[in-house]
Amino acid sequence: MAGLPTLSDPAPGRGRSPARARSPATPRKGPSRGGWPTALVEWFQREARPLPWRETRDPYRILVAEVLLQQTRVDQALPFYHRFLRRFPTLDALARAREPSVLKAWEGAGYYARARHLHALARTLVREQGGRFPRSARELSTLPGVGPYTSRAVAALAFGERVVALDSNGVRVLSRLELSKGGPAELGERADRALGELPPRAFNEALMEFGQRYCLPRRPRCRECPLRGECLAVRKLADPGVFPPRRPAPARVREEEGRGVLVSPGGRVLLHRRPSRGLLGGLWELPGGRIRAGEEPRSGVVRTWKASTGIATRVVAELGRLEQEYSHRHVVVHVFQLAARGRVPQEVASARWVRASDLPRLALPRVVHRMRPWIEEVLRRHRAGEEGTPGSFAPGRVKRNPRGPFGRGGNGA
Ligand code: SF4
Repeated sequence: MAGLPTLSDPAPGRGRSPARARSPATPRKGPSRGGWPTALVEWFQREARPLPWRETRDPYRILVAEVLLQQTRVDQALPFYHRFLRRFPTLDALARAREPSVLKAWEGAGYYARARHLHALARTLVREQGGRFPRSARELSTLPGVGPYTSRAVAALAFGERVVALDSNGVRVLSRLELSKGGPAELGERADRALGELPPRAFNEALMEFGQRYCLPRRPRCRECPLRGECLAVRKLADPGVFPPRRPAPARVREEEGRGVLVSPGGRVLLHRRPSRGLLGGLWELPGGRIRAGEEPRSGVVRTWKASTGIATRVVAELGRLEQEYSHRHVVVHVFQLAARGRVPQEVASARWVRASDLPRLALPRVVHRMRPWIEEVLRRHRAGEEGTPGSFAPGRVKRNPRGPFGRGGNGA
């Protein structure tokens, strides 16, 4: 396979065939001469997966991969990696982009602050450093949004600096192999010692991949592990899967939201842009918000619609209900078709009237993609002049407002 790092870290484009890279591991029975670090790199040479960011030394492409992989599994990250780089193939292209385009290219990958930080970083590098990356972890870590892990990963993988980037996989593997309960500082020192004279690129990639494929968080594959003979945890603990001890995950908070579809006479729906900072920052959603404890969803959507848009509405029909998981929240979303009470402003702060054909161009959270069939059905019925509750939607009843929902003169939306 082209570009796989080896013990001597050859230049990209040279390496082993994919067939050989997929050959099975051979569990080692006893300690190897170079200890676990050498055995780990040797394992990587035999088994490394062919991944596109291993085919390059371009710091920009490596940075994009590292940022994506911080919250996303390798198999899930691959399509987003390709799509983002097709859209922004260079640091310069990303720096010139507008934020909505960047968010659209990141759409579906989640944790959108990562895309905004990448964008800000590209602009800083182009504006202040002529588009050149600093080559050391120390200098990289001074850039906006670049933490210790990312700076070390880019320095090691793109520039071959002799540093180790410890992600959660690396921490787990190292802790088990050396049966260490040490904190980040101690583990960092252990990792640097383990790297020794081994090639930093291969060592870092190996540590990450080994944690994803063998030394799994709860059920490590110890019986078939190629480092079994080097591992203190498997030698001394009945169940290495409980080591290092984990803090219990916080329980997800259950919340309810009301979201509303309001159609203009011109056949557009109002979408609201979320604040740039925070969860799903900068993405477009149906107006509405959180329903209070004890509040009816129908009342809640009318109240929150008024609060977020200034527009008084009434519920026409309930379109449906869906549930969405976030890292710390379980959200039940009630979606309604609304009609305006009185005139509706043409301009609404942080919002935009959009056609159905605009939806694919906007960066939408996953939950809004799930609502799209409902939104499109309401728009279709509006175009067809079919006022009334869509047959597949339940329950609800439409009453025609004799003056029209947008008042005299409309709003051009
Ligand atoms: S033997 Fe088990 S705990 Fe030890 S490194 Fe291998 S998979 Fe991890």
